Amino acid sequence: MTSPLRPGATIGILGGGQLGRMLALAAARLGFDTAVLTPRTDAPDSRVSAFSIVAPYTDDKALEALAGVSDVVTFEFENVPASALEKLAALGVPVAPGPRALAHTQDRVDEKTFLNAAGCPTVAFAAIEAASQIAPALAELGGPALLKTRREGYDGKGQAWVKAAADAEAAFAAIGGKPAILEARAAFVRELSVIAARSRDGTVACYPVGENRHDGGILHFTRAPAPGADRVQAAAEDIARRILDGLDYVGVLGVELFEMEDGGLLVNEVAPRVHNSGHWTQDGARCDQFEQHIRAVAGWPLGDTSALFETEMQNLLGSEVETWPKVVAEPDARLHLYGKGDIRPGRKMGHVNRLLRPLAR
Ligand code: AMP
Repeated sequence: MTSPLRPGATIGILGGGQLGRMLALAAARLGFDTAVLTPRTDAPDSRVSAFSIVAPYTDDKALEALAGVSDVVTFEFENVPASALEKLAALGVPVAPGPRALAHTQDRVDEKTFLNAAGCPTVAFAAIEAASQIAPALAELGGPALLKTRREGYDGKGQAWVKAAADAEAAFAAIGGKPAILEARAAFVRELSVIAARSRDGTVACYPVGENRHDGGILHFTRAPAPGADRVQAAAEDIARRILDGLDYVGVLGVELFEMEDGGLLVNEVAPRVHNSGHWTQDGARCDQFEQHIRAVAGWPLGDTSALFETEMQNLLGSEVETWPKVVAEPDARLHLYGKGDIRPGRKMGHVNRLLRPLAR
């Protein structure tokens, strides 16, 4: 793809969730159509997209149909099989971000190995294939350490703490006996994230760092800019740039960070997509992360990432969504709902952005 996409073009999206829905809404505002491929019926983004294909990501006919209507394809979910992206590329449709981004972020051991090679610090770690490898790794890393599945863990799922060698068998069983990573414990003072974008010509733009609060392993609140963001912004941007350049990335990416007592940053995780901790940008920044991603994959120049408001994003988890009548009555709150029918505990049903304070520019 050489020239920028013109309004009227169609952007394909692999994945059917709320991130895809908000990408589709941002794309529509810029005059694009979207085409969604999702294995789910009644997906949040299918209902706001011009085209919806319901099939597994491995269905060749479905991928051909998606390639047939799309001028570029992106994804809203990092666990799409790499083979789907390869198939789309073979069909001649540009894919952004490219397969390299998935290859280095689908597996926690590969991701940390890539990060360390790119000069981004992480906790010390060891690859675990069998329960018997846990005790020697724990002796090396020091306890307690966190055992996580290498692939497909999210929102704290597929994780177990290992305090002593005697816990090894139980912890390995608790994560399903799958290939794993054992991570040294990060004694962090708080969790931060930086949302960053890279355009087709290699320009990088980063949003102000946000501070994240999780409940039960699920993101609940993001405050951005984080209190004291100035102290960590340059280091976070340096990390984001190394990752984006190292992956030859096009699009928006989220980097989850641990802030340590000495002010240093460690990378916890990289999400090769728009990120929940970047939702505040919809109402608090000049150009939000969804429009930014659409701009990048369409070959447009990146938008302005500066914050207009100090903003607090609250995820509406499970039955919290029923507070919507109160939320819409708050003058400085903006409600975003995902159109999901079933309320389940911890399920991300929507979010609220509360504008706390305007920021001088
Ligand atoms: P993750 O799914 O890897 O993002 O982990 C979910 C949450 O577990 C993080 O947001 C942290 O609160 C915590 N966590 C993950 N890895 C570590 C670690 N190595 N040390 C301490 N806490 C961790």
